[in-house]
Amino acid sequence: MSSCAYQSPWMTDDVQLFRKTVRQFIQEEFVPHQDRWREQRRPDAEAWTAAGRAGILLTDVPEEYEGGGGSFAHEAIVLEELVHAGVQFGSSIQSIVGHYVLAYGSEQQKRTWLPRMARGELVGAIAMSEPAAGSDLQGIQTTARRDGDHYVMNGSKTFITNGGHASLVCLAAKTDPRVTGLKGISLIMVETKGLPGYRVGRSLEKVGMHAQDTCELFFDDVRVPVANLLGPAEGKGFSQMMDRLTYERLTVGVTAVAMAEHAVAVTTAYVKERTAFGKPLIDFQNTRFKLAECKTAAQVGRVFLDNCIARFMADGLDDVTAAMAKYWLTDWQCRIVDECMQLHGGYGYMTEYPIARMWTDSRVQRIYAGTNEIMKELIACAL
Ligand SMILES: Cc1cc2nc3c(=O)[nH]c(=O)nc-3n(C[C@H](O)[C@H](O)[C@H](O)COP(=O)(O)OP(=O)(O)OC[C@H]3O[C@@H](n4cnc5c(N)ncnc54)[C@H](O)[C@@H]3O)c2cc1C
Repeated sequence: MSSCAYQSPWMTDDVQLFRKTVRQFIQEEFVPHQDRWREQRRPDAEAWTAAGRAGILLTDVPEEYEGGGGSFAHEAIVLEELVHAGVQFGSSIQSIVGHYVLAYGSEQQKRTWLPRMARGELVGAIAMSEPAAGSDLQGIQTTARRDGDHYVMNGSKTFITNGGHASLVCLAAKTDPRVTGLKGISLIMVETKGLPGYRVGRSLEKVGMHAQDTCELFFDDVRVPVANLLGPAEGKGFSQMMDRLTYERLTVGVTAVAMAEHAVAVTTAYVKERTAFGKPLIDFQNTRFKLAECKTAAQVGRVFLDNCIARFMADGLDDVTAAMAKYWLTDWQCRIVDECMQLHGGYGYMTEYPIARMWTDSRVQRIYAGTNEIMKELIACAL
């Protein structure tokens, strides 16, 4: 058999059809605004409700909560299409927050938040990281002190994706500051619209991902009902986060493979077009070998990712394998994108070329959702 074409086992006809819809929506509604979104450092607020109408939010949340009623395959499609179009839009964070509500929320909480999230009327953010606590989440200092039937919250969060537009924040806070370590942390849902004491800080200036909305958040005697606690009791936040991070890490892996494949595709087209020393770049053995290596690595990554997706869709993915996927796939994403940029020569460094943006956008994949060093710690702990 001569063809190396590979089809993901989760790519059913239904999912293929969904890809077409998503691609068309992104091309028509998001791509024309990309330059402006990059300049303003976030998508337009209206993009959220447009995405909701198009059915690309909470695609894998059950229909009874107005989600798409699909599977993780539908989420993967949205992520892949955003990568292929070079668009940053925090729909995966929306899904991550949605899945916190789905997994730990009461029926009342699910009915209150999920439909509005699916319609894009509420924009979700997950607020764990703080100026003094990123990898080491037990060091978080944001507090939620009980006062009657309310929590009074104080503290600050940083690097929060969707932070500027966020109207529903899943906040990690210490509900019991007397308990040191992980046990005193709880997750509390905060509806931010018009909320006294809540403030969004500056949009953070990043190396890449310029259209992604990344902000600091401040809580100054913010009061939310005790009913907004996620889960049956306080102190469960850390285990809830560790459990749900598996989903988040899988989404990062999907983006990593999609970008690696896309980098190889755009570079292959470029080296067939561009000439040097009287022949197309593809005719140099170095170019062919580098691209052969990149394509092979991308396909190895794809097969591993598909295995993770299949396991996740069957009965959940264990946290160690999710850590392997996050670390290995993003490391390879960065290597492949870097090689592909090199094959573009000077044009690869110009932001008008997609490979340049892929290069700057890739780097953070090794840092967020738990750094790759922390992933290795998790894997090593299970040896
Ligand atoms: C663009 C962007 C978007 C983000 N979005 C969000 C978001 O939506 N919500 C959110 O809560 N957070 C978000 N983050 C934060 C992100 O998750 C943290 O930056 C990350 O977890 C690392 O934490 P830190 O930056 O404090 O680095 P540190 O924890 O200070 O780490 C610094 C270095 O030390 C290493 N290190 C730390 N501990 C160990 C160890 N035990 N062993 C070996 N090495 C170690 C790290 O790997 C890293 O290389 C985002 C970050 C970025 C850059």
